[in-house]
Amino acid sequence: MSENKRMNSIARRVSTSFVLRLLLIMLLINAVLITNFLAWTAYSMEKTALGSAWQADLTRAFDYDGSLPVRTRLERMNYTFSLPGGAKHTVAAGQILLTMIRAMNVVIIAEIVIAVLQYRGFKRRTLLLLSPLQKIAQTAQALSETQFDEQKFHSLEDAIQNISVLSPSARLSTGHSELIGLENAVNNLISRMHDAYRQQTRFVSDASHELRTPIAVIKGYAELLSRWGKDDPKVMEESVNAMLAEANNMQRLVEQLLFLARGDAGRTAFAPKKVDLRELLLSAVDEYKLIGTQHVFRIRAEEPVFTFGDEAMLKQALRILADNAIKYSPEGSVITLRAGYSPQGMAILSVQDNGTGISAEDMPHLFERFYRSDPARTRGGTGLGLAIAKWITERHEGHIDVFSSLDLGTRFTLNLPAYQEEDSKVSSDAAATAYNPPSF
Ligand code: ADP
Repeated sequence: MSENKRMNSIARRVSTSFVLRLLLIMLLINAVLITNFLAWTAYSMEKTALGSAWQADLTRAFDYDGSLPVRTRLERMNYTFSLPGGAKHTVAAGQILLTMIRAMNVVIIAEIVIAVLQYRGFKRRTLLLLSPLQKIAQTAQALSETQFDEQKFHSLEDAIQNISVLSPSARLSTGHSELIGLENAVNNLISRMHDAYRQQTRFVSDASHELRTPIAVIKGYAELLSRWGKDDPKVMEESVNAMLAEANNMQRLVEQLLFLARGDAGRTAFAPKKVDLRELLLSAVDEYKLIGTQHVFRIRAEEPVFTFGDEAMLKQALRILADNAIKYSPEGSVITLRAGYSPQGMAILSVQDNGTGISAEDMPHLFERFYRSDPARTRGGTGLGLAIAKWITERHEGHIDVFSSLDLGTRFTLNLPAYQEEDSKVSSDAAATAYNPPSF
């Protein structure tokens, strides 16, 4: 039997039993109504005939001629009653009975119509209720029909074991159509693992490459020193200074690498609180003035600008942008620093210089790790600064905008979520995980 037929048959059976019960109740109500009606009619007739002499134990009987056809017999039926030992009273009851029977016919037809309508409605509702059960039953049926094929699982195990993790074209394929969903999921996982692996190896090889130059320079000067420097104070001084500068570069590079590696591993402490970007900007400028930079800082920050973030990290991002502005613009030129709110309601911090600008070819790669434009290579950067600034901004659920024009200048803008009152309720284990900025 098909599933639909089975559901129909169940619904039919349930509805029939419901309607039969309904009819039985109606029948009982009819019987009670008829009995009451007859008793009340008989009582009224007796009371009319006997008046105050009426008593409950009257002698009562129906008189009719048994030889007549049923209908005429009913029509002519009489109801007789008498007081104990008294005269008989006779009342024509046939017409009353016939009227009552007619009325009952109408009532019974109405009840049958109601029962049929109820049957249909109940059956429809039962089918509706059964439909989810039907789906479950079908699934259970399908599951019970699915054969657990051990062979297929063995071939899946073998295929997984034979995948070469290092091969970029590694794919899981058993040839069994039932396992395609599982194979796709595993293949997606392999692709993601490969991407992560590729990024990791590229990062390590770029990092080694970057470290090779300062090591070669230090080695070169050390050789120079050992050959000539001992007796020549000029060579000695030049070598020591160069070695010191390269050692500083290396230290900066290693610290930046560590920051990114920790960030990638989710091990960078993050202690957010309410931070005033205007204050941050002013204190950074004070620090630059202390170092004695040759650039002119112009500040555009009229009012406090609040965000919810890690102050030390945000300051580090600001320093990266300001260092770049200093590095890529001529001495004595103006660097404008702004703090404010964007029309979109973001808290913004921007650094604008009148320097070299960035070419359209360099623009898409600026935030890549180790990326440096050609002219920048000579200025001693590591190519990690903007990658770190981007990481910090994204950690704060913000983004960086760049606007640049060759030979005119560049503006970097950090867009951060503005501080909301609810932010203060965000629990932060600030004390335990306060961020300790590295010195780069
Ligand atoms: P770097 O240590 O080389 O400065 P960054 O990641 O900070 O590394 O910057 C990447 C590259 O972006 C730089 O090499 C430079 O080409 C370009 N750049 C960044 N800031 C500026 C700027 N203010 N003006 C011009 N070019 C810039």
